[in-house]
Amino acid sequence: MIDTQDVKIESKRLLKEYFGYDSFRPLQEEIVTHIMQGSDCLVLMPTGGGKSLCFQIPALMLDGITVVVSPLISLMKDQVDGLNANGIPAAFLNSTLSEEEESNIMQRCRIGEISLLYVSPERITRSFEKIFGMLNVALLAVDEAHCISSWGHDFRPEYQQLKWIKHTFPNMPIVALTATADKTTRNDIISQLGLKNAKTFLASFNRPNLSLEVRVGVGAKDKDREIVDYIRSRKNDSGIIYCMSRKSCERLSKKLNTKGIFSKYYHAGLSASEREKVQDDFINDRTSVICATVAFGMGIDKSNVRWVMHYNLPKNVEGYYQEIGRAGRDGLPSDTFLYFNLGDIITLRKFAEESGQVALNLEKLAQMQAFAESDICRRKILLSYFGEFLEEDCGNCDVCKNPPKKFDGTIITQKALSAIMRTKQMVSSQLLIDILRGSEKREVLEQGFHRIKTYGKGRDITEEDWKQYLRQMMHLGLIEIAYDRNNALTATSLSKKVLFDDQKVELVRLVAPEIRKQRFKVTYTKEQAQKSQPWNQLFEYLRKWRVEMAKVKGIPPYLVFNDATLRDIAMSRPESSIDLLSISGVGKVKFDAYGESILEEINKFKQAGRKTTTTYQLTYDLYKKGYDVNMIGQLRGMNVMTVYSHLAFLYQQGYAIDPFKYISKEDVKQILEAVQKTGERVQTKPIYDFLRGEVDYYCIRLSLAYLSKEGKI
Ligand code: ADP
Ligand code: ZN
Repeated sequence: MIDTQDVKIESKRLLKEYFGYDSFRPLQEEIVTHIMQGSDCLVLMPTGGGKSLCFQIPALMLDGITVVVSPLISLMKDQVDGLNANGIPAAFLNSTLSEEEESNIMQRCRIGEISLLYVSPERITRSFEKIFGMLNVALLAVDEAHCISSWGHDFRPEYQQLKWIKHTFPNMPIVALTATADKTTRNDIISQLGLKNAKTFLASFNRPNLSLEVRVGVGAKDKDREIVDYIRSRKNDSGIIYCMSRKSCERLSKKLNTKGIFSKYYHAGLSASEREKVQDDFINDRTSVICATVAFGMGIDKSNVRWVMHYNLPKNVEGYYQEIGRAGRDGLPSDTFLYFNLGDIITLRKFAEESGQVALNLEKLAQMQAFAESDICRRKILLSYFGEFLEEDCGNCDVCKNPPKKFDGTIITQKALSAIMRTKQMVSSQLLIDILRGSEKREVLEQGFHRIKTYGKGRDITEEDWKQYLRQMMHLGLIEIAYDRNNALTATSLSKKVLFDDQKVELVRLVAPEIRKQRFKVTYTKEQAQKSQPWNQLFEYLRKWRVEMAKVKGIPPYLVFNDATLRDIAMSRPESSIDLLSISGVGKVKFDAYGESILEEINKFKQAGRKTTTTYQLTYDLYKKGYDVNMIGQLRGMNVMTVYSHLAFLYQQGYAIDPFKYISKEDVKQILEAVQKTGERVQTKPIYDFLRGEVDYYCIRLSLAYLSKEGKI
């Protein structure tokens, strides 16, 4: 029997030493303790919730190896790199390794040099004997565990092999982890993996830092214009636009490029090396915008994706949730948008009808559509899909920001619930509506449903409206769909209060589609406030330092420090090692690797700040007094080009400088074209050369400042 108190103290120490974090997130500590007691469990946490720590901390404490099954090869490498960057000995086995590399890793495992071994599912099958027979395996972690279930949305046959592990090693604890699993899938995971007395840890799926916005019925042209405007307002931020087809990825990416937004596209039609390149550029902050099919992102653990858009309706809520979940993993505010047109439904219905599981996929699509069309807090709906009930409206979705009208829908809800109970929770929503509306269809009469008390009690409500109301009840957590019982509606425990205690239910008055559309006038207020924060300059400065560091180490920038940690550093401006070590995300190994360098960098920034303010300020004072550029140059002892550079800088910083004293609108137009053609936005020389020396350097410098300030490049 282990001492839970000891485990808690030790795991907290490891959390700070290796990961640099001061406290556990909800459930992490309980899960670690549970695993350390040698018990099985199922962990449900949203993407970015912090699943990995749940088995990584035990791996550091356990005597033996923790084997992690993970389906995605690129993610595996990423995770192992991340662990190594924190000083944790980890390795992976998958099809990209040569025999020699593999036996090398096995050897290191045997002599106890490795704490975590990541393995792809097909490798586990092949090397089952080798891994479990020859190594001292203390724990098995099954990541993306929903892949084992055919009820899930991402079934992978290789996962089924994992069933044998529990049979062969009944005493080895297993932890299964997933970010997406409805109740049916959850039970399936437990039974397929043969987990014993498994405890389920269900973390909140709420990701309050993600704003949610659905934009209904925006035409193609307006859609593109809105997207361009949005991205321009978020310069340097990383984002992903999910498109339905390969063709639309390419088209949109090209279109963005002509608008001076540098993007790349990604889909399964590209060669493996092309895909890797696009992904690599994104991870390393070389490309900030990617237009992609849903194939993109599975293998990406980038923590500073600031926005995600869906160019079309996704085919199910699980996928949507997972895709938007790629934004804001570092916990900082991030935006998500979903564009939805009825045409999307037609296309998606066709896909569903051609798929292997028609009924299931159509129902999932209907839920997705319901989310997009709903008039209640979007986060409530999203969470209800994962069996969670949010008490308060979220305040960070388009519906909350622009609320619709509500009315007392208690009686309507009671009618529906009562009909569900009287039909023994066996009927689908269509049949339920038929019963409520008193239909004389064969299915109704044959089963005697015309004799129940609620038959025909909802005649006054149209079929369309009933559908909407039932969806609202679903979103309120009052009813659920049992996918494994022909999509029958069931009443949840919450519904009892409505049926028996007369608890009030508020439903949303349905609005006509035209009115709904009007509400979607550009509601996003750009988070520009953040950009002008004083700490942001240091943040941008340290970002450059981070890119350099990452290059030297051969790892992605966010593995040096993630955005949240870098932001905290920029905000608190640490001056000593002790200050730096107290920041969340600065662990021992990272401190040793980067501490000195970053402290030096902060110091440099502070000094440069002092110097630059004075030199620029002097130029500005002279400008304000009305001196011309030549005169300022003479007075300051600098050449004219430097004076222009100062003016450009001051203008960009928001000082009252009028660039059109020196340049014309024509110049600006010409330079904008040159930027679009050359892809150069900062350096003047390439543009000068491109224009064959016909436009002066100072003109280029000032025009670039103007275009950048206006958000045109
Ligand atoms: P998931 O696997 O659930 O998608 P991760 O395990 O990758 O999520 O964690 C997401 C991010 O949150 C990572 O950058 C991780 O380092 C960070 N994180 C995890 N646990 C904590 C914690 N207790 N405190 C601060 N950050 C954490
Ligand atoms: Zn809301």
